[in-house]
Amino acid sequence: MSRDFDILVVGGGMVGASLGVALAGSGRRVGILEARPYGEPGQPSYDDRSTALALGSRHMLERLGVWSDLSREAAPITHIHVSDRGRFGAAHIDAGEQGVPALGYVVPNRAIGAALMGALQDAEGVEMIAPAEVAGFEGSSGNDDEWVSLHLREGQAAGTLRARLVIAADGTASPMRERAGIGIESRPYGQSALIANVSVSRPRAGWAYERFTPDGPLAMLPMGGDRYSLVWTHRDKDLAATLALDDAAFLRSLQARFGWRLGRISTVGRRAAYPLGLTRAREVWRGRLALMGNALHTLHPVAGQGFNLALRDVDALSRALEPVGDPGAPEVLAEYARLREPDMRTVVRLTDAMVRAFSGKRPLPGLLRSLGLLAADGEPSLNRWLARQHMGLHGAVVAKHAVHKHGQRT
Ligand SMILES: Cc1cc2nc3c(=O)[nH]c(=O)nc-3n(C[C@H](O)[C@H](O)[C@H](O)COP(=O)(O)OP(=O)(O)OC[C@H]3O[C@@H](n4cnc5c(N)ncnc54)[C@H](O)[C@@H]3O)c2cc1C
Repeated sequence: MSRDFDILVVGGGMVGASLGVALAGSGRRVGILEARPYGEPGQPSYDDRSTALALGSRHMLERLGVWSDLSREAAPITHIHVSDRGRFGAAHIDAGEQGVPALGYVVPNRAIGAALMGALQDAEGVEMIAPAEVAGFEGSSGNDDEWVSLHLREGQAAGTLRARLVIAADGTASPMRERAGIGIESRPYGQSALIANVSVSRPRAGWAYERFTPDGPLAMLPMGGDRYSLVWTHRDKDLAATLALDDAAFLRSLQARFGWRLGRISTVGRRAAYPLGLTRAREVWRGRLALMGNALHTLHPVAGQGFNLALRDVDALSRALEPVGDPGAPEVLAEYARLREPDMRTVVRLTDAMVRAFSGKRPLPGLLRSLGLLAADGEPSLNRWLARQHMGLHGAVVAKHAVHKHGQRT
C-alpha cells in the first residue's frame, strides 16, 4: 500500500512533534513517523531529563498553543549563577535587571511530550503514524525527483509512504542523514552527562547554577520546591565509578563539587548518563530531504541550547514553507538553510568554546578563566550578550545588564 503526503517527518521526538504542531492547519498534508511512541520504555526523547527552555522558546511554544499545558509543570529561572570551583569570580544574570519575568523555564521532558502529543491529537492535517520505523528511502537525492518514497520496517502500518518533502528529525545518529550521504563534523568530548533529580535543604526559588569544575561543568536547575535537576558532566573514564556509588556516597561526592549554596543535597533519584559530543551536519538539506534538531546539530548541554536552537529550526522551516507550492522545492529549502545558518553557527561555536575553555583537553589557565567570569559579570556588553543567548532572544533589546561582582573564592 502507498500513501501520499506533502511532508513526512521522520522522528516524533521533541523536535519532530513540535514541527508537526507548527504545521497544523497549514493546508499541507503532514505525517509524522515515530519508531517508539510516547510513553513506551526506551523512548529516547521524552525520558527522565528536564529541559531548560529559553524565554524565546516559551514565546514559540505559546504560538504553538502548547504553553498553557506546559506552564503547570514549568519552573521559572529568574537568576543564573555561573561559577568556577576553587577560583575567584562568578557571573550572575538576573531576570529583573534584564527587564524580563524569567530568563527561562525548567520543564520535565515527559511534560513536553504530553503537551505535544495532546496538541497533535487535534492537529488539522497532521497524522501521527506510530510505531513506524523508516527502514529505507529513495528519490531524495536529485531535485528532478518529484517524490521521496519511504519504506517502513516490515510488518508495520503502511509498507511505503511518499512525500514531496522529508524532514529528518531522527536524532544524533540520524539514519536518514546517513542514508542520504550527508557528512558530519563531529568532536567527541570524551565526556558524558550524568543526570538525576535531587532535593536540597535550602532551595532558592528561581536560581539556576552552572558550576565549572576541573572534571567538567555541573548544572543545578530549579524544578520548584526543593527539587533540582542535576546535569553533571564526567570524563568518560570516571563515569562508571560515580554511577556505581551508593546514594550516600554519590551525594557526598556531589556536595563536595557543588558546595553548600543550596544547603545539604539530601536525596537523589534515578541516575542516567548520556555521551556528549558536538555533531554538525555538513549540509542542511539535499534533494527533497532537510535536517532538523539533533540530526542537524547536537550540542553539549552545558549551555542548555540544543532544543532551544531546534525550536528556531522549526520556526524557520514553517516560515520558509508559507508560500503555497511544492514544499520540497530547492528555493524553499535554500531559504530554510539561509534562515538557520547564522544562528546555528553562533550557538555551535559558543557552546563548543565554553566546553573547551572550561573542561576540554586544553583548558584555559585558571587565571584566564577567572578573568573570563569576572568580565562576564562586569562587562555590560558581554553580560548582555550572554543573557540574550540564554534567553534565546536574538535581536531583542535587553534594556539593562546585571553587574554583581563576587570577590570571594567560590
Ligand atoms: C543530558 C542532556 C541535557 C539537555 N538539556 C537541554 C536543555 O536544558 N535545554 C535544551 O534546549 N536542550 C537540552 N538538551 C538537548 C535536547 O535534549 C535535544 O536538543 C533534543 O532532545 C533533540 O530532540 P530531537 O527530536 O532532535 O532528537 P531525539 O530526541 O533523539 O528524537 C529523535 C526521535 O526519532 C525517532 N527515530 C529515530 N530513528 C527513526 C526511524 N528510522 N524511524 C522513525 N523514527 C525514528 C526516535 O525514536 C526519537 O523519538 C539536553 C541534552 C542532553 C543529552
